[in-house]
Amino acid sequence: MSYRAPVSDIAFTLRHIAGLDRELERGTFGDLSADLVDAVLEEAGRFASEEIAPLNAPGDKFGTPLQDGAVTMPPGWKEAYAKWIEGGWASLTGPEAFGGQALPMALSIATQEMWNSGSMAYGIGPTLTFGAIEALHTHASDELKQTYLPKLVSGEWMGTMNLTEPQAGSDLALLRARAEPRGDGTYSIKGTKIFITYGEHDLTDNIVHLVLARLPDAPTGTRGISLFLVPKFLVNDDGSLGARNDVRCQSVEHKLGIHASPTCVMAFGDNDGAVGWLVGEENRGLNCMFTMMNNARLSVGIQGVAIAETAYQQALAYAHERKQGRVPGMSQDEAVPIVAHPDIKRTLMTMRALTAAARAICYETAVATDLAHRSADEAGRKAAQERANLLTPLAKAFSTDIGVEVASMGVQVHGGMGFIEETGAAQHLRDARIAPIYEGTNGIQAIDLVTRKLSMSGGAAVAAYIGDLRDVARQVAEANHPAFGRMGDRLDATIDALERATTWMVAALKSNPDHALAGATPYLRLIALAGGGAALARGALIAHGLEASPANAARIATARFFAENVCPAADGLAETVVGGADTVLDTDAALAS
Ligand SMILES: Cc1cc2nc3c(=O)[nH]c(=O)nc-3n(C[C@H](O)[C@H](O)[C@H](O)COP(=O)(O)OP(=O)(O)OC[C@H]3O[C@@H](n4cnc5c(N)ncnc54)[C@H](O)[C@@H]3O)c2cc1C
Repeated sequence: MSYRAPVSDIAFTLRHIAGLDRELERGTFGDLSADLVDAVLEEAGRFASEEIAPLNAPGDKFGTPLQDGAVTMPPGWKEAYAKWIEGGWASLTGPEAFGGQALPMALSIATQEMWNSGSMAYGIGPTLTFGAIEALHTHASDELKQTYLPKLVSGEWMGTMNLTEPQAGSDLALLRARAEPRGDGTYSIKGTKIFITYGEHDLTDNIVHLVLARLPDAPTGTRGISLFLVPKFLVNDDGSLGARNDVRCQSVEHKLGIHASPTCVMAFGDNDGAVGWLVGEENRGLNCMFTMMNNARLSVGIQGVAIAETAYQQALAYAHERKQGRVPGMSQDEAVPIVAHPDIKRTLMTMRALTAAARAICYETAVATDLAHRSADEAGRKAAQERANLLTPLAKAFSTDIGVEVASMGVQVHGGMGFIEETGAAQHLRDARIAPIYEGTNGIQAIDLVTRKLSMSGGAAVAAYIGDLRDVARQVAEANHPAFGRMGDRLDATIDALERATTWMVAALKSNPDHALAGATPYLRLIALAGGGAALARGALIAHGLEASPANAARIATARFFAENVCPAADGLAETVVGGADTVLDTDAALAS
């Protein structure tokens, strides 16, 4: 079964739950209209379903072979990418001054969901280019912008992000790549980077690498890291491609999943040194890279939603086809489709509800990110930035965790056939597994949430978020609609658990930080359950006010299912956060090697 973009649910989540319509009415996005948003989503859905999804399984089998330093992408990928840039998809959010359409990030995230549902290995490539554009636009000199941004924005060239080295993964303080001034304003870059996504490929004529390296005499640690632009081919003054730079792909990794995304070991400067240009200020490279990484984190979060959606669609279709077992009154030679069994219904609804909640969190994060730049007043921009900062680790970690969980449930719904590659369910699980790891592991996201985000504005940012969630629970209770069941009560209980854990967490950060770190991952899950539950409930309130339809009934049923079947885990999570730290930390005997 192939992917069909759920355009109606995507549009509903973006426009109603995440609040894009409210901002369109306020004129936050100029003359962008709801009709145009719908048209863009519709066309993206068509492209993802018809052009990208068919590449997914063949790409998985073909991989990205490397010969003589050149990577060959799977058959059909180059043509699909050419059509994709011709359709203007690469330039959706790019700055207007460099040929972009300057559309909201939220709209881009919704389209990214669809590219990634079509194929995660395809979707991750443009993600890095978007990040490179943002980092260059914010930090690079005018000359670098003029030379590189038009081609990156159009998609004619692609970008990469080069942080990781064998000894420096989560801990970039250990980074060793060197940059020596060449005396002409450029730098000679030397070092090895590993795991570089789309480090080498044949989709575009040039590849623009953004590389973290240390200048001579730079301070140790993260304060001594600078960012450099290193093109695969040097660019002549007239914009044409010149000499090959001293950067090469040494090998391509063999991986569990996303086989069609080339993950490269990159050698910079094995001969004379790769020519690079400083981006931003010396020793401030990590700051520049964070511009790129924040958006990339959201883009990886949406990969979790995307793969969960595809896995759900496929499992649902299979559950309607596969016949096993009987319902009372049937003869022994008959069987029902497995979707009739309560246990399969529960599994499918859990898949559906987790996917919908993660989608809502990602889109809310995207709208907040847009408002951080485009809100009319300074106070609005600050509040939106804090909301985006708070939600980004949730969007990244919760969505990618549920991506793996939902893909695994998808395999389970298929029974033995799920373990057999032909069905494609296994590929979703293999592909999903990388997203909790790259762009800052989910453990690092949880630490970021607890140590940096809870203290924003002296705790006011998280308090405002919890206040908003409470408001939704109150509206659900006031609506008192029979179809909402116990949704209001369950949300209230979930938010109670979140408040209890938050109070404990804030105190622990001051008195005993290790205890706070021990509870960071369950705390992130807890706040995501509360946030996701409230977002779906907001959708149910809106759906209830719209014309009755199967889609709106399904939205209400999904929100209720999430509140009554998924949110009850909140009490256990709060207990784990508050009461579990000692047993996490007192583990020397158990974990001795
Ligand atoms: C397919 C793929 C594509 C990638 N693409 C890119 C790319 O394009 N560019 C790039 O630069 N990198 C890329 N990476 C690298 C990726 O970002 C890193 O793998 C990731 O940041 C984790 O680093 P590590 O693998 O060294 O794990 P480690 O840092 O060794 O972490 C191992 C485990 O320890 C935990 N851990 C580490 N430090 C701490 C801490 N302080 N507190 C608590 N727990 C901790 C981690 O959460 C993790 O569970 C890619 C990796 C893969 C596999």
